[in-house]
Amino acid sequence: MVAFTPEQSAFAQAVSDFCKREAGTRAQRDAWTDDGREPHSQELYRKMAAFGWAGINVAEEYGGAGAGNVELCIFLEEAMRGQAPIGGIGPTLITAAAYEKFAPEEMKRAVLAGVVAGDALSISMSEPEAGSDVGALTCRADKVDGGWLINGQKTWCSCAHYASSILLIARTDRSGAKHEGLTQFHIPAGIEGLRVNPIDTLGGSEVNDLYFTDCFVPDENVVGRVGDGWTQLMAGLNTERLILAAMQLGVAERSFGDTLKFIRERKQFGRPVGTFQALRHWMADHATEIAATKELIYSLAKVSDENPGQMMPREASMVKLKATEVSKAMTIDGMQMMGGYGYAKEFDAERLMRGAIISTVFGGTNEIQRDIIGKTYGL
Ligand SMILES: Cc1cc2nc3c(=O)[nH]c(=O)nc-3n(C[C@H](O)[C@H](O)[C@H](O)COP(=O)(O)OP(=O)(O)OC[C@H]3O[C@@H](n4cnc5c(N)ncnc54)[C@H](O)[C@@H]3O)c2cc1C
Repeated sequence: MVAFTPEQSAFAQAVSDFCKREAGTRAQRDAWTDDGREPHSQELYRKMAAFGWAGINVAEEYGGAGAGNVELCIFLEEAMRGQAPIGGIGPTLITAAAYEKFAPEEMKRAVLAGVVAGDALSISMSEPEAGSDVGALTCRADKVDGGWLINGQKTWCSCAHYASSILLIARTDRSGAKHEGLTQFHIPAGIEGLRVNPIDTLGGSEVNDLYFTDCFVPDENVVGRVGDGWTQLMAGLNTERLILAAMQLGVAERSFGDTLKFIRERKQFGRPVGTFQALRHWMADHATEIAATKELIYSLAKVSDENPGQMMPREASMVKLKATEVSKAMTIDGMQMMGGYGYAKEFDAERLMRGAIISTVFGGTNEIQRDIIGKTYGL
């Protein structure tokens, strides 16, 4: 079983205690989330940042905690298990890691200082015609005197309505193969030439369409190297997929715990419904799946901490695939085990399900993850 050091256990406890204090009751969670409609509270996120947690994986020289992937996963697992409404933390930490790797020094210092203080960040790759085939993106940045002029539409950009900046992937060269000629740009919030339009979803205010019209950014806003956008994206995949997986592990654990409590208390035919073999076996299967997922996540976190910079596409896709399928199954089955009450807004089951159900789509759909895993076996 996954074993943490005493320091890591104490850290997990501190995050869990914070969540109980700030979001432990339904009334508290309602207040942070506009009755469950908002997946992210910037106010609560800034409170967490005061403990140094928003900069958990930011290097110490940039004001962060400099923690590795294991501590990062512990934090995300506990925050999601504690149902802290900080859904924007996933895109923020993924984007912060990209800035830390590739941004010029001055920009890095400024952006990461904001992250440590609780700023949210966005990353924008997807377009209406470039989803799974993200390399086919067409939003273009054309070279002009002193900078770049950006034109095109992006979609599904998480947190852009409250992020301090967006890391944009745009096409700067159309002459080569589709994964070539992509470049990353730093787009500060509120820049002229960018319109951010919210997309209404099952999850509430979460994602946005972005419209760029002759949006000028100076040369200094290039993040990394011109033309290296795709390679730079690939370099962050271990951490990105661990972040998404650890968050869904926490969601699955919360759903399991809430379901367990309910089916122990709810009586039908004169006994707790959880004592019927159908539900008991169902829960046993979910407990086993959750435990296996936890092993997989923390073993990749540990190995990637021991081998920084090593790409592990098979294992990274495996953790994303496994954790998101497990949390989706747990939250949907949890609703079924609660009968009609799982469907009622009075309980958290429907919120947990809404948070889990889309996790098999974002961050690369699970069909694409299976494809990546299959290809590593030469298929
Ligand atoms: C809540 C949410 C948040 C998001 N946040 C961001 C963000 O912050 N930044 C960003 O850039 N993007 C973001 N996305 C976009 C996300 O990454 C895409 O939705 C995802 O990659 C799938 O693209 P698509 O929706 O266009 O589906 P499509 O690519 O059109 O896929 C439709 C279906 O076809 C399947 N499919 C497609 N190609 C293949 C294939 N080769 N083999 C097998 N099956 C295939 C897919 O798995 C899926 O089931 C977000 C999306 C959502 C819903």
